Amino acid sequence: MPRPIRATVSIPAMRHNLALARERAPGRFLWAVVKANGYGHGLANAARGFAAADGLALVEFDGAAQLRREGWSGPVLMLEGAFDPVDVSQAASERLSLVVHEARQVEWLEALAAPASIEVFLKFNSGMNRLGFGHDAFREAFGRLARLPSVSRLTLMTHFANADLDGGADEAMRRFEAAAEGLPAPRSLANSAATLQVPGAHGDAIRPGVMLYGATPFGDGDARALGLRPTMRLESRLIAVQELTTGDAVGYGSTFRASQPMRIGVVACGYADGYPRHAPSGTPVAVDGVRTATVGRVAMDMLMVDLGPAPGARPGSAVELWGEVVPIDAVARASGTIGYELMCALAQRVPLRVEDDATP
Ligand SMILES: *Cc1c(COP(=O)(O)O)cnc(C)c1O
Repeated sequence: MPRPIRATVSIPAMRHNLALARERAPGRFLWAVVKANGYGHGLANAARGFAAADGLALVEFDGAAQLRREGWSGPVLMLEGAFDPVDVSQAASERLSLVVHEARQVEWLEALAAPASIEVFLKFNSGMNRLGFGHDAFREAFGRLARLPSVSRLTLMTHFANADLDGGADEAMRRFEAAAEGLPAPRSLANSAATLQVPGAHGDAIRPGVMLYGATPFGDGDARALGLRPTMRLESRLIAVQELTTGDAVGYGSTFRASQPMRIGVVACGYADGYPRHAPSGTPVAVDGVRTATVGRVAMDMLMVDLGPAPGARPGSAVELWGEVVPIDAVARASGTIGYELMCALAQRVPLRVEDDATP
């Protein structure tokens, strides 16, 4: 029998979140971001859940080829652009749109031998100082790309460093508007945070990612309060129960000690499944649908939970690590990280099940 751990991806929840993103930015082209294996949900599952998107955006060229092989014929946007000239050829043959954020990438397009028709997203560095051209270089690159017969269409884009903070996109938008002034091209600026709270940044095309997977792009607050539904459930079962007396310790390093007699459950889930090792005692978890907390250090294959709130629990009882009862954001917050990282870190060894209520 396989270990009882499994993750479930909800296609209806993905559709719901996509519809919510559309509602927030009506009439705009919607790129559903599916990088990192669909934020850990499986690329094919993400393509299915977001089939109603206008385009899919990612950074992996093998992932783009997979999307084409599996029948996605709509637009595909490569968010980091080409890594070498071979990628530019792949973009031409597989109709992939390319971000251009660097001079080399302009040269590769200029050097294209065969006639091609590639859509380009020219990236402006609005303050993140990761990818993108500064003001003058941006305008110069626009001029060079606009002259290229192989560039079928140019869009101006930027990526915000602080769209999750109140007013955090203001300065970046001012810089972008100044650099883009007078350039005849559509605009794409908004990630999830800006899609949700900066309507002025919706431009012509939005690029939501994490919100589509039912997690919040904001440091605090609750994805459910934003109207989002969780798209991933990580579940397992108790494989043992221990009765502790006062002073007994739990797990490696004995970081937790019982201050009174208590029952604890041992869950078949550890850091090798993608659960964060740094989740401290007190991280929320649900047993038999009842919220309780982890105790002791997370191990490779196991973690332990307080069974106080679930007195009926026994070996075999159902455990939800995150999903419906325990928001992934709550586990992330307790562990000092963000929902994005937990989703993406889901380990290969965890079987992924897909849930759909639609008739095919
Ligand atoms: C990942 C990414 C997004 C999506 O960001 P979220 O915060 O997940 O919504 C949008 N644009 C670019 C360029 C990205 O790399």
